[in-house]
This record gives sequence, structure tokens and C-alpha cells, in this order.
Amino acid sequence: MDQIPGKLYLVPTPIGNLTDLSARAQRMLAEADLIAAEDTRVAAQLLAKLDLPFKDLVSYHAHNEQSRVDLILAKLAAGQTIALVSDAGMPAISDPGQIVVAAAVQAGYAVCALPGPNAALTALAASGLDSRYFHFEGFIPVKGKERASRLQALAQQAETSLIYEAPHRLAKTLDDLAAQGLGDRRLCLARELTKPYESYLYLSLAEAQDQVKRQAPRGEYVLVLEGREAYLARCPEAGQAGQKDLEDQVREKILLLRKAGLRDRSILEVLVDLCDLGKNDLYQLIKDEASSE
Ligand code: SAM
Repeated sequence: MDQIPGKLYLVPTPIGNLTDLSARAQRMLAEADLIAAEDTRVAAQLLAKLDLPFKDLVSYHAHNEQSRVDLILAKLAAGQTIALVSDAGMPAISDPGQIVVAAAVQAGYAVCALPGPNAALTALAASGLDSRYFHFEGFIPVKGKERASRLQALAQQAETSLIYEAPHRLAKTLDDLAAQGLGDRRLCLARELTKPYESYLYLSLAEAQDQVKRQAPRGEYVLVLEGREAYLARCPEAGQAGQKDLEDQVREKILLLRKAGLRDRSILEVLVDLCDLGKNDLYQLIKDEASSE
């Protein structure tokens, strides 16, 4: 008789409050043939707290994701039910999971995500900021060009942004966002969600900078940042001033490149990917700059 293929379940686990684990998630952890866990010790502790029997646990984390895929696909082929858990919250959301889910989908296995705890959506729901459209950023890369480009993208993001940040990097991230001209944006700083000391601070980004200077951040944070559209609807004059600042900065760059001997076409090619101006507007600025010399 042919084997009935198995199924991969994504099982969200509590982000701070054990009772947030759903009855269905608990049943899945009890009944799965195998639990694939970001950290098997964390998963074992959860099973112990829930008084669930210990069973086959296999690690599935950022450093072995790719190599674990074959094993998990083989177990699915053998008809096993696999529960995938991360240390906290929804697997595959700023956590390992996406690679094995993609492989299982590609191979034609059924994948089922159970609804449950997630820090970003919990913070968004309580933020009071526009929740109709939002952008999930997760962790901003910690350094280099990748960080610079994500910070720039966040500054232009029309919709509310959801950002994860570690406490020891929070001050730097707030400073870097402020350097993008976002000091006046509204921010909800959601801390230690679902835990006894859960808190929400509703303030501007500049006020949050002051706050973390006064009191060193501790615990886990989600930043819910007002989007550009909501900000400009609230402060239309900021849009005009911002456009002027942007054009002034671009003019400076044009002057520098021209001094370095570049012609108009080359200046356009260099700046078009670096500036938040349309190609035509940028070309017009380059022309205007040339005629004003
Ligand atoms: N998969 C998880 C989820 O569904 O939310 C996210 C995992 S990610 C590795 C961990 C980050 O999520 C933390 O650094 C923090 O930014 C955020 N986070 C997790 N738990 C949180 C909590 N209880 N309160 C605030 N933020 C939390």
C-alpha cells in the first residue's frame, strides 16, 4: 500500500506568556511524530512546562537549515507529521523555517501554519498607528551597505513599519532612523509583550531617543513606526521642506561629481540609484545646476 505523505505544521509558541499557546498547538506538539526545533533545549523546556511527553526532537536552526531539509522531506515522504517550532513566536518570521517550508511546498507536501503568538502583529494591533497597510521589516541589518539601504528604504516607506530590535542596539537604531529625518515620526515602542512587565510607549522617534538615553533599554522590543503617508497627512509642511532638503543634498553631490570631471550623463548614472528622485527630476536638477554655474 502506498504511504500517505506526511504534513509539516508550523507551531507558534509563546513570546512571554505560556498560556498564549493554543490548545491546538499543544495537541500538535503532543501528537507530532517529530519536532524540528530552532533550539532543542528550549523546545524540551516547553514540553516539560506543558507536561508533554518527550519525543523525537531534531534541531533546525539558521546554521543547518539547508542540510536539515533532506531529513525533513524524507520524514514527510515516510508519512510523518512534523511540528516546526522556533524559540518563540511564529516560525519562519524572523526565525528559521522559510527554507524548509519552500522545499516542502515545492515537493508537494501539505504545509499548515497554526495561528498564534507573534510579536510584530501584537505590537501593531496596540500601536494606534495605521494598521490597514503595513510593512514588516524585522531586524534591520546591523552594518554596511545593507543597513544603509534598509534605513533609506524605511525613511521612504509609505506604510507603518514593524521593526524588531535587540535592546543593546536600540539606541543606535533610533539614532540612525533620526538621521534619515524621521525624528518627528510617531513611534510605538512595544516592550516585553505578554510578559508581566509588558509596556507600550507612544511617543515621537526623537522622544524615544531621549528616553533610551535616560534609561538603558532592557528586554525585547518591537518598534512600530508611522509611515510616510500618515506623517505627511499629519504634517503636510514637512513634505515640502523635506523635498527642498533632498534637492539641496542632491545639488551638493552634483557639484562634487562635476568638480571630479564627470559629465551630465555620467552624473545621472551615478546618482540615479542613490537619490530618491525620479530620473527626469534628477536630470532637470543636473541641467539647472549646470546653467547656474
Ligand atoms: N518569530 C518571532 C515572532 O513571531 O515574533 C520573532 C523572533 S525574532 C528572532 C525575536 C525578536 O522579536 C526580538 O528581538 C524582538 O524584537 C521581538 N520580540 C519577540 N518577543 C517579544 C516580546 N515578548 N516583546 C517584544 N518584542 C518581542
